[in-house]
Amino acid sequence: MDWLYKRTLRPIGSYAVETFYWLSQRVGILALSGKPENAPECSAMTDRKRIHSCPSACSVTEKEEEKEEGEHSPQKKPIWQLPLGSVEGLTKGLKEKELAPKRLQLLLVGKTGSGKSATGNSILGRQVFESKISARSVTMTFQKGSREWAGKELEVIDTPDILSPQDQPEVTAKKIREVLASPGPHAVLLVIQVGRYTTEDQQAARHLQEIFGKGILAYTILVFTRKEDLAGGSLEEYIQENNNKSLDDLDVACERRHCGFNNRAQGHEQEAQLQDLMKKIELILWENEGYCHTTELPNIPSKSV
Ligand code: GDP
Ligand code: MG
Repeated sequence: MDWLYKRTLRPIGSYAVETFYWLSQRVGILALSGKPENAPECSAMTDRKRIHSCPSACSVTEKEEEKEEGEHSPQKKPIWQLPLGSVEGLTKGLKEKELAPKRLQLLLVGKTGSGKSATGNSILGRQVFESKISARSVTMTFQKGSREWAGKELEVIDTPDILSPQDQPEVTAKKIREVLASPGPHAVLLVIQVGRYTTEDQQAARHLQEIFGKGILAYTILVFTRKEDLAGGSLEEYIQENNNKSLDDLDVACERRHCGFNNRAQGHEQEAQLQDLMKKIELILWENEGYCHTTELPNIPSKSV
């Protein structure tokens, strides 16, 4: 109340305002503070799970942040103060906690023809992986490409058809362990084509969890290719209203981390797609405190999405 008075009301200097302020102090007009009387207090949360459950309910104003500044050391600064909409804000937050790894390993998975190699090329900004229409897998081996992006090295790993049900999860896990530098990927990009979420895709999602364990979904982002086919419609609408509940369930299991790629896009549009993906990756890093997923083969889970 006092800061509001000092910074906004006092400079006006009007008698009426002075009187109103004086009155409001006495009769306790809380509306001026912009905070409902019964609003829950946002305590300094260190519990990461709470952050994602209430980012908007706990949003704070700039002034409140200033007030809090003295009460928290940078390390202890509660996550709800971070501007969740910006990559910079999250990166800053991660740096404060020294959680921003310099090299990020991104593993592309998905059924054959979904657009993994094309997405890898879009991320890298150049043609590194062979990508073409084919009924059979074009990518036969694991391949890597890297680039620098915002001071980080992005290492993209393109994969052959590793999520098909023929392959034993243990065998696939062993292959992946050989390819990935220890301990494992920072993010898994599960590539799905817009308009074509088939039983094969469902099997691929299930197989992914059999290989890595159900916990892998905490590191997974759904990447939808052929975004241009949405013709301006939103990905959210598509996911939630396409009469395929299992796609929505998978999206929920991945905490609604999804993004779209038009792999034919170039220049600014291509960069914007990457920005959007990197936001989701930063969220994963934050959630998992900067750690990779371990490639140790877990026990095969009894139930998966
Ligand atoms: P992969 O088997 O999952 O690696 O799939 P590819 O990357 O080889 O892509 C299969 C085909 O889909 C290729 O002809 C790509 O050019 C095409 N493709 C992939 N992504 C897109 C996209 O966003 N838009 C369009 N129009 N075509 C795409
Ligand atoms: Mg490929």
